[in-house]
Amino acid sequence: MEAIPGLAEALPLTHIEALELGQVPEHLLVVGGGYIGVELSQAMRRFGSKVTVIDRNGRLMSKEDPDVCDALHSLLADEGIDILLNARIKRVSGKSGDTVGVVVEQNGIEKVLNGSHVLVATGRHPNTEGLGLELTGVELTERGYIKVNERPADHRAGVWAIGEVAGSPQFTHISIDDFRVVHANLTGRNRATRAGKSHIVCLPTPNLLVSA
Ligand SMILES: Cc1cc2nc3c(=O)[nH]c(=O)nc-3n(C[C@H](O)[C@H](O)[C@H](O)COP(=O)(O)OP(=O)(O)OC[C@H]3O[C@@H](n4cnc5c(N)ncnc54)[C@H](O)[C@@H]3O)c2cc1C
Repeated sequence: MEAIPGLAEALPLTHIEALELGQVPEHLLVVGGGYIGVELSQAMRRFGSKVTVIDRNGRLMSKEDPDVCDALHSLLADEGIDILLNARIKRVSGKSGDTVGVVVEQNGIEKVLNGSHVLVATGRHPNTEGLGLELTGVELTERGYIKVNERPADHRAGVWAIGEVAGSPQFTHISIDDFRVVHANLTGRNRATRAGKSHIVCLPTPNLLVSA
């Protein structure tokens, strides 16, 4: 996602701070209508916040089937959540927790949304910087995920990367399944996450498990 002027200075909430808030936001502006944005929007709305969700796509949770997205949209709108789609955020001002303004452009028209808090829910990044992974020979992709091998049978077992840090789809059950694959390989079986692909990094270091 491109940098949004003023967003970092506004000290936005992420899902981590949102789950630790000691107050119900008066008006929460949510940047991102994916799973986490939708989930936290609904929760905060039910706690009593006014909530506005802003997404650059034409549908909420746009990776789902269109009928699912539409049903979800109706459900959230019925609960009183304002939803702005096809909206590009131009800049942010103020501080989350005090007053915050978000300027969006939607269908060529600029609008200013004012709220008390802003929550960013635009995706998660792997926490692989500053760990010294380069000293171990572990390679990263351009987006910072650990590079994984494709054919485990061809490589020695050593460092294993599972779950989100290995670029797997971001679901609990996927990470658990990655664990099962690693466990199977550590105990003498030869399994992959799917045909021809496994989350195994080949290194001589014995049995270092990386999941961050
Ligand atoms: C708000 C929210 C709601 C979600 N809801 C769902 C859902 O309903 N269903 C679903 O399937 N998925 C859901 N997910 C996604 C799911 O939580 C993740 O896909 C899953 O937790 C990934 O597991 P993981 O083990 O790969 O990473 P994580 O669960 O992120 O675990 C990584 C661990 O590594 C630790 N760590 C990071 N850096 C370091 C370091 N340098 N040193 C030591 N430890 C470190 C972290 O503290 C963390 O405990 C949700 C995610 C969020 C944020």
